Amino acid sequence: MARIAVGGFQHETNTFAPLKATYRDFEMADGWPGLTEGPAILTAFEGINLPIAGFLGRARSRHDIVPLLWCSASPSAHVERDAYERIAGRLLSLIKAAGSLDGLYLDLHGAMVAEHLEDGEGELLERIRALVGPEMPIVVSLDLHANITERMVRHASALVVCRTYPHVDLAESGEWSADLLDRLLKHGPLKKAMRRAQFLVPLTWQCTLIDPAQSLYRAVTESEHAGAASASFAFGFPPADIAECGPVALAYAEDQARADRIAERLIAGVNEAEQDFAGKVWQPDEAVAYAKTRAVELKRPIILADTQDNPGAGGNSDTVGLLDALVRNHAEQAVFANLYDPKTAEIAHRAGVGAEINLGIGAWSGMKGSTPFHGTFKVERLGDGNFDATGPFYRGNRMQLGPMALLKIGGVSIVVASRKQQAADQAMLRHLGIEPSQQRILALKSSVHFRADFQAIAGEILIVAAPGANPVDHRVLTYRHLRSGVRLMPLGESHGGEAFRQA
Ligand SMILES: [Zn+2]
Repeated sequence: MARIAVGGFQHETNTFAPLKATYRDFEMADGWPGLTEGPAILTAFEGINLPIAGFLGRARSRHDIVPLLWCSASPSAHVERDAYERIAGRLLSLIKAAGSLDGLYLDLHGAMVAEHLEDGEGELLERIRALVGPEMPIVVSLDLHANITERMVRHASALVVCRTYPHVDLAESGEWSADLLDRLLKHGPLKKAMRRAQFLVPLTWQCTLIDPAQSLYRAVTESEHAGAASASFAFGFPPADIAECGPVALAYAEDQARADRIAERLIAGVNEAEQDFAGKVWQPDEAVAYAKTRAVELKRPIILADTQDNPGAGGNSDTVGLLDALVRNHAEQAVFANLYDPKTAEIAHRAGVGAEINLGIGAWSGMKGSTPFHGTFKVERLGDGNFDATGPFYRGNRMQLGPMALLKIGGVSIVVASRKQQAADQAMLRHLGIEPSQQRILALKSSVHFRADFQAIAGEILIVAAPGANPVDHRVLTYRHLRSGVRLMPLGESHGGEAFRQA
């Protein structure tokens, strides 16, 4: 039995998004638990699809666990300096107070940018490494959207990335981390190899339910049968203007040549697939017009993925471009979910069910060019926002989305929430009396995660480009810190133009 410290600090930073992550955002529960410290960590995550839950499930019976702290905040712009330093500082002081340790596991996302530093996780791991010394095994689980830096690789003994998008294997990736930590404790350090691809892949085309991503992840698993102690591939998180943004392959093995060979082979597969990361992107009006007819033909809901305002990618979930298209084109039995708008939820709760309210909704985060949607809405239903998730992605979670309301205008129902969470679980709609399978059109603020729970009921899925902070086409973003030579889109031009040189 070894003494293993366990903690987590998760953020996915979209440096182009309108609002930053505050300490309060980490403290508060949303779709995932709020900041948890000490022994509560041992029970707070049971049954939840999170890496730390999988790690503890595996490691608790084998080791003496020293719980540190765990927290996450919804993806957004930079983590405020105050929040980063308070949380990182607390983690370090808890590690120091833990006394003698044999190993450390951290549940990180791996795309954190703070106001004052570009590589949130690299900095954190460097500080921890300085504290615990060069020998102690540190294993870190990461999201598939991690932007992996050389500093992270250097200071962690091993990094483990989940392999599905929708991320239905987050808990499993924690189990792999526990097994890998055991191996390191028993047999000592592994050799590491890291290789990068020189192009960014839009989130929408990273889905592992389809190729090329499906095959690439099969290759990752196969390489563990072919001699890697651990292999990983992370697509990275494109809307993050940092030097080391983008896809990375990792391999850990007993000897350097083997690790190099495996990482090399994985990244070669990614490079060969470059042209296949593509697909149709619809404009809001054409998508609504098509969906209206198609839903009737198929007798099943057509899903419009409002991907550019996906709160899971740093969108504020408050843009109304697609809502406007639904109402303007007289969509019927259509649902728009979730509009993150606490003020509107409050007004609806004050007015009560059955009331008509006249106001402008959404677009309150101040994103350039985004304006509220004005109209008269009927308050159809109210909810307290507390309910259990039922889909495979949010599995095991108690949702706490604050006061919620269902507003109706014409044939369009709008799910309003007081906390920001990706529309990736049918329970979010059922909480307000909507049966998703009975609708004609479901407009969901999500890029890929919605597929875990909604794909089975969908007649067809359309990717729609309405306003938001997560553009499908990265060329509209002004990168200044991204290393030069990276193609902003698959097969696109290399980055390194005027804006980059002036920065
Ligand atoms: Zn992710």
